[in-house]
Amino acid sequence: MNYVSTRNNKNELHFKDVFIKGLADDGGLFVPKNVKSLNSEDLDKLRNLSYNDLACEILNLFCSDFINKKDLKTIITKSYSTFREKEVVKISNLGSIKLLELYHGPTLAFKDIAMQFIGNLYDYYLSKNNDFLNVIVATSGDTGAAAIDAIKGKNNMNIFVLHPNNKISKVQRKLMTTGNEKNVFNIAIDGNFDDCQNLVKAMFSDLEFSKSIKMTGVNSINWARIIAQAVYYFYTCFKLNSSKPISFSVPTGNFGDVFAGYLAKKMGLPIDKLIVATNQNDILHRAISKGEYRSKKVEQTISPSMDIQLASNFERLIYYINNSNSEITAEIMKKIKENVYQIDKINLESIQKDFVSGSCNENETLDIIKKYYEKNNVILDPHTAVGVGVANKLSLNDCVVLSTAHPCKFPDATENAIKKYENLPKELEHVLNKDENFEVLKNDIEVVKNFVKSKI
Ligand SMILES: *Cc1c(COP(=O)(O)O)cnc(C)c1O
Repeated sequence: MNYVSTRNNKNELHFKDVFIKGLADDGGLFVPKNVKSLNSEDLDKLRNLSYNDLACEILNLFCSDFINKKDLKTIITKSYSTFREKEVVKISNLGSIKLLELYHGPTLAFKDIAMQFIGNLYDYYLSKNNDFLNVIVATSGDTGAAAIDAIKGKNNMNIFVLHPNNKISKVQRKLMTTGNEKNVFNIAIDGNFDDCQNLVKAMFSDLEFSKSIKMTGVNSINWARIIAQAVYYFYTCFKLNSSKPISFSVPTGNFGDVFAGYLAKKMGLPIDKLIVATNQNDILHRAISKGEYRSKKVEQTISPSMDIQLASNFERLIYYINNSNSEITAEIMKKIKENVYQIDKINLESIQKDFVSGSCNENETLDIIKKYYEKNNVILDPHTAVGVGVANKLSLNDCVVLSTAHPCKFPDATENAIKKYENLPKELEHVLNKDENFEVLKNDIEVVKNFVKSKI
């Protein structure tokens, strides 16, 4: 399969370039030149597979020129061997809603599912080619821990993680900063998540710097993450085996997870609506309901992994709704940079064919946690609660809500809502008492670059 940049689709690349670079040199995101579509016969062949076998078949469609199927299967098996659920994910009932529990990996959020795969895929490639990479990643809380767990101790990679200082939960931070592997570097930036993400982007677009240190990224813009996430949409539809197309409510900030659902739908999976559920940082909700894609100041919420204003992966949707026209996409991205983008009527109508949206403020999120605790005796993490709350608001009550984090990661939020918190799974309790290791740096590109250079 060949890939192009959303900002220049004349230049065709292979999976290897897409995977190793993360972001195109022109600042665009990578997308497949043509998305493979599966007919009902193809889908039937996948229907009864185990999670790992299904992952192997889906991922192989995207990277067969990079890795053979046998090695791919080995990597997938290895990646998910540490999960607490044998089938990686678990579907549970919450009244009329179904929860797709994605948090049974080593760092208790859905990001493990893609990140464990990516870490092992890097390892495979780098060992084979005797090469070395420096992974630099911004995190709003969960990506960092997942990336560190996936890369720690590997001898062909360093990992640098930038998180917004004092803006993530303590458990989130402890899961990142309590390891002692020599190839892991935690940086707390005096700023918010968008600042962290901008620093990483600036390092990437400084080609002299990024090439000289062999920099790569594992943020949710990395195509390999998207395809690994598409797998659980397939798995869920097959498992539920519903006669009607299923809707998914996806708590989102960076538009990564929900874009994976869009990809699955584009490939032919019978999905009805993709529900974009945001907290009060609601740029995606304003965009999808009214066409208003303009960022405001980021507000800190109890669902910090969605405290994002600029949704990087939205660029991929812009590309597709403009019929894969990269000139138009590049123009729109300029407008987004100037914060003056209004989605036109035709584009908005085509977005609304697949997506609906909603947002929950802090009180509504707490109310949802309370309501479902009282009614169903289930503790929801605040991100999942946003997904449930928006599904309720839109009266889409027979949908599947992606449950993106284990509630124990956000004890303050659940304590606030129901005076209760969930304990960490036994095997992770030890992180709470371990010493932390991170450097606080100014929100300044030169300072961060110098730090990175001093460590490699
Ligand atoms: C990262 C994250 C999200 C948002 O995911 P995106 O698809 O990147 O927007 C939602 N919930 C949790 C718990 C997360 O860690």
